[in-house]
Amino acid sequence: MTFTPTDYLPYDFANRRHIGPSPAEMVQMLKVVGAASLDALIDDTLPKKIRQAKPLDFGKPMSERELLHHMKIVASKNIVLTSLIGQGYHGTVTPPAIQRNILENPAWYTAYTPYQPEISQGRLEALLNFQTMVSDLTGLEIANASLLDEATACAEAMTMAQRVAKTKAKGFFVDENCHPQNIAVIKTRAAPLGIEITVGKPDDLDASVVFGAIFQFPGTYGHLRDFTPEMEKLHATKAIGIIAADPLSLTLLKEPGAMGADIAVGSTQRFGVPVGYGGPHAAYMATKQSYARSMPGRIVGVSIDSHGNRAYRLSLQTREQHIRREKATSNVCTAQALLAVMAGFYAVFHGPEGLRAIAQRIHRKTARLAEGLKMAGFQVAHVTFFDTITVDVGPLQAAVMKSAVDEGINLRAVGDTQIGITLDERTRSDTIEAVWRAFGIERADKDYTPHYHVPEKLIRTSDYLTHPVFHMNRAETEMMRYMRRLADRDLALDRAMIPLGSCTMKLNSAAEMMPVSWDEFALLHPYIPRDQAAGYMEMIDDLSAKLCDVTGYDAISMQPNSGAQGEYAGLLSIAGYHRANDQGHRNICLIPMSAHGTNPASAHMVGWKVVPVQSAANGDIDLDDFRAKAEQHADNLAACMITYPSTHGVFEETVTDVCQITHDHGGQVYIDGANMNAMVGLSRPGDLGGDVSHLNLHKTFCIPHGGGGPGMGPIGVKEHLIAHLPGDPTTGDGAVSAAAFGSPSLLPISWAYCLMMGGDGLTQATRVAILNANYIAKRLEGAFDVLYKGPTGRVAHECIIDTRPFADSAHVSVDDIAKRLIDCGFHAPTMSFPIAGTLMIEPTESENKAELDRFCDAMLGIRAEIAEIENGTAHPKNNPLMNAPHTMEDLVKDWDRPYSREVGCFPAGAFRVDKYWPSVNRVDNVWGDRNLTCTCPPMDTYSEAAE
Ligand SMILES: *Cc1c(COP(=O)(O)O)cnc(C)c1O
Repeated sequence: MTFTPTDYLPYDFANRRHIGPSPAEMVQMLKVVGAASLDALIDDTLPKKIRQAKPLDFGKPMSERELLHHMKIVASKNIVLTSLIGQGYHGTVTPPAIQRNILENPAWYTAYTPYQPEISQGRLEALLNFQTMVSDLTGLEIANASLLDEATACAEAMTMAQRVAKTKAKGFFVDENCHPQNIAVIKTRAAPLGIEITVGKPDDLDASVVFGAIFQFPGTYGHLRDFTPEMEKLHATKAIGIIAADPLSLTLLKEPGAMGADIAVGSTQRFGVPVGYGGPHAAYMATKQSYARSMPGRIVGVSIDSHGNRAYRLSLQTREQHIRREKATSNVCTAQALLAVMAGFYAVFHGPEGLRAIAQRIHRKTARLAEGLKMAGFQVAHVTFFDTITVDVGPLQAAVMKSAVDEGINLRAVGDTQIGITLDERTRSDTIEAVWRAFGIERADKDYTPHYHVPEKLIRTSDYLTHPVFHMNRAETEMMRYMRRLADRDLALDRAMIPLGSCTMKLNSAAEMMPVSWDEFALLHPYIPRDQAAGYMEMIDDLSAKLCDVTGYDAISMQPNSGAQGEYAGLLSIAGYHRANDQGHRNICLIPMSAHGTNPASAHMVGWKVVPVQSAANGDIDLDDFRAKAEQHADNLAACMITYPSTHGVFEETVTDVCQITHDHGGQVYIDGANMNAMVGLSRPGDLGGDVSHLNLHKTFCIPHGGGGPGMGPIGVKEHLIAHLPGDPTTGDGAVSAAAFGSPSLLPISWAYCLMMGGDGLTQATRVAILNANYIAKRLEGAFDVLYKGPTGRVAHECIIDTRPFADSAHVSVDDIAKRLIDCGFHAPTMSFPIAGTLMIEPTESENKAELDRFCDAMLGIRAEIAEIENGTAHPKNNPLMNAPHTMEDLVKDWDRPYSREVGCFPAGAFRVDKYWPSVNRVDNVWGDRNLTCTCPPMDTYSEAAE
């Protein structure tokens, strides 16, 4: 048999990787939806006047091999030197067991935020390990998991101090030895809130005029100081003491809790997380138990399930923005969970002895380095230090810095006459000898016997990491299996669709993920000279240009580390613009009631007043109410914040009117871009009248969700706002993150997605996302009410189904349905947002017809179970919905239920062979908040909670 050219099938990789339904499946689906073609469906769904004029064109899409080849070339333009710059970023060794089993394992990186605790016990335990580690190392009772970076954690600590301090003082004191980027971000955060910042020497602290003060330990230039007297001074005036501490140093040094600190913050980057040119890594915050309710970020806690067994969950959620909106403790939502997991495992992997040994080795090397410099006549600025020294070099600064670069080493210029050197876990004898050569010293490292340079009273005396989890067998077999066991407890995208409305849980393809681990992206320090990061610059420029094309904006800032940070940065740029036009008094922000909770929380952070706007009966913004409020506040209108397509999953035709009204009354338009997955290639927020938007690269642009972070929330702005974008954290004003480009080591993922999809591929993804949502809406129609459709009866990329009627008809809650979906092998859709008692379903383009059908079958099966309660066939309380989820333990125990094991454990949608079994029954939320425990419970209490 021979092949003729027409036998070869078209083989379009670019589209097939990301687009679930095959062409043949799409034909069947369009039939169900009742559309003649995909084009016809899109024409039905998107009003003409909001369609973009020109198609997206990014040239020919790349294949995976072309992409990886191209990436290697660009990566090779980054010059990987040994950076001893310190300043909060350190070389670290990621244990290969953690790199392979966590960082590069989709079971961990594709998971969602653990809002559904029953399918999240693995990552919740890993995060609890992280919290226990932080709490132990800092000597404070309760820690969160986690914050975006150290600088934003410092700013969060400041605003938290203001919330809890029992003094009316308006000032906040910042130790001049804090890292410069921490000071910069604190200043940005303080300005719109009217907090008066004093930067000075700790000796000059006047505790009577401040509500709090922050100190760095060890100081940014390396020296060690016991802050106990400062903490006492602050407490005498009822002010709050904060210490930003390097957690590795705390394995040897006196911990913040022992100094009397109320809050400790810092970065856990050096616990095995590559620097990545600035991120992502997890910052930490720890505090006293009594301040737990005021803490920002997520806190994992211990509770019990319906059988009284121990179960983990996110505690104190009532503090968060999705409940409290502008009164929330912060706008922190997505926040570096995957990196916290890695850091926690690093501590599990090394244990307290291992960590102490690493810290001692670094200190010994630093002492040796200092000794060599002193012997050669250089003056080392401080007598006591941990891993950082500052050397006086007078006029030699530039020459030494340059010789160091020639030796392959980046040092830190301090002022005009000093050089800072920070050693780390990667430092070898060769490194020290190379540094000496840069100073003109020819020495061998072994010539010196180092002395300790830590004062007696600063040596740590308390235990840490005593829990058995930090003392497991050190053979890798045990570690590997522990990581596997935890991963198996969780339901991530590697097992099933995660149909979360608004959160766009789509494929994070393997080829996109690979460059993240390459040294050329992973090992760069954020404060190296730009000419060593030419590959990053090329990527950032090209990705920014593409995102401008996608959004219709004129410039992009990559600085925000999450969507909520993007909101904050965008609102700051609006505020800056108003100030520049002598309109600095404008402080009213119109926000629809249906907005994501981070919107009002971010508006609050820039010191604005939130004025809520009603929704009309069809779910659109109530235009009359909007106009009335814009008119009423015309003199002070700063902005409106809207989401497009709306959080109700509809392309509102009135969006251009909303923008026009806002502009007519002197306000600026913020369009929340979390729903860009419904727009890319079809419609652009910049064309609709938006002045600024954030993009959730961890939603629309394929960065994995990581179980609650990392993320990237870059903002696009129109020309007139460019001057007001965040400045560089080391040199400029208005920085919102510690690093100029936020978490840049994630950017290869989004860039690769654009390069491999091309303009057509990205547009096709949007079209199929809309098809998939309409297919689900159609299949569920009749069984469930689909709330909010466009005028032609179509939904956008997500749909909201109403489960409120079942509360009356069968006493079935939205929770019961969500938990029953676990038995079917699914993560629940978004619950009760934007409307309480509803489910918002977003399938994304990544899911194929079979998976969509499995989900619809599960939902229809659940509806039939509800009907059995309604018509009295099933028991009103003892039924599969209210007992959900069912565990394997339930299956094998005495079965005393009025329905069969088969019905209980294998509902429609559940796989037979590959059945997902949750590790716990339904988790009791109230119990956990009433009995707050946020560190690993002792081993011997493992069965205690049971009855
Ligand atoms: C996810 C989301 C945000 C917040 O993004 P984070 O990265 O979690 O901070 C804001 N608005 C909407 C509509 C979202 O869906």
